[in-house]
Amino acid sequence: MRSQTTLARPVRVHGIGLHTGRQAQVVLHPAEPGEGITFFRTDVGREIRAVSEAAGRFDYSTSLGPRGEEVGTVEHLLSAAFGSGLDNLSVEVDGSELPILDGSALPWIRAFQVGRIVRQAAPIDPICPSRVLAVPQAPGKRLEIRPARELRITYSIDFENPAIGEQSITMVVTPESYSRHLAPARTFGFLAEYEHLKSKGLARGARPDNCIVVGSRHVENGELRFADEFVRHKALDLLGDLALVGRPLLGHVVAHRAGHAMHTALAQMIRTDAERRGSITLESRAGISEALAAN
Ligand SMILES: [Zn+2]
Repeated sequence: MRSQTTLARPVRVHGIGLHTGRQAQVVLHPAEPGEGITFFRTDVGREIRAVSEAAGRFDYSTSLGPRGEEVGTVEHLLSAAFGSGLDNLSVEVDGSELPILDGSALPWIRAFQVGRIVRQAAPIDPICPSRVLAVPQAPGKRLEIRPARELRITYSIDFENPAIGEQSITMVVTPESYSRHLAPARTFGFLAEYEHLKSKGLARGARPDNCIVVGSRHVENGELRFADEFVRHKALDLLGDLALVGRPLLGHVVAHRAGHAMHTALAQMIRTDAERRGSITLESRAGISEALAAN
């Protein structure tokens, strides 16, 4: 058990959304113990708690809340908070997508340094699954959590594209290891998919300075930050989606070729298991299901 944490003071961040291409203004505010992370859309007056029951769509990113009132591309901010042990945060945003910044979680870590992470008077218990929880298998993919006394991540990927190929990483996640080994890893996209994504209304804010551009054989826009930056970014994304557990987490998470939908499904399995054991209370999904059904 450790003390809960929040920021000492508000911090402003702004930039364009990766998918919408629109400018967004964000203010990270301190929050009270027990509040967890919440998003507030100032333009539509909607508050959304960052828990897996709120997860909506997974079009190359994770969105929370019902369509029309959602907040998109939340995973890098949530990853930075989860990796830093930042529990309570109220995130104001004036549009439907958080800014992509440089494509990594590093700018969010810097924002937390500006706002200063401080301890609060209340303690917080991590969630520790008591048995192996595995997301139902999709062909060639795998995602599970095993009981452990620390948070460990093992991630492997296997892309046909020779610029990526096979990569794997395993590490114990602490604020120090996170900010050094995962936070700087940038998101990536394939040049061959760019026009198709744009035609679907995605990747409209993708620029060479906010993602790794992968051509048919090479990275097209400069040096990588790590030789295995791709798998590190997948681990960063996984932690962002696991932040939707809503509490610190202990366990060994093993992932192979997973993605946002599988990551979030595991977060929901962990929450459902914790609710069965009386550790947490689940949120209603009703608002989102109705909004999805209406589309
Ligand atoms: Zn990502």
